[in-house]
Amino acid sequence: MVNYKQLCSRCKKNYVPASWRDRYIQCYDCQKKELSTEIENKDFKKLFNIPEEFYKKNSFLRDIKLKYIKSI
Ligand SMILES: [Zn+2]
Repeated sequence: MVNYKQLCSRCKKNYVPASWRDRYIQCYDCQKKELSTEIENKDFKKLFNIPEEFYKKNSFLRDIKLKYIKSI
């Protein structure tokens, strides 16, 4: 895997592990608030109930969760 990092598009302070596909990428700190949104749906709550560390390290996981949060 290529170790590629991109500067956060929002705060422009933190570097985020990114892939060449990520054009607009945000760091964990910038997404933390939205990520902590309470999920009401039992199944999805279970699905996203993974260690916080995973979300910190993986922007792809953050993306999936945020897409779900925005869709509700
Ligand atoms: Zn940021």
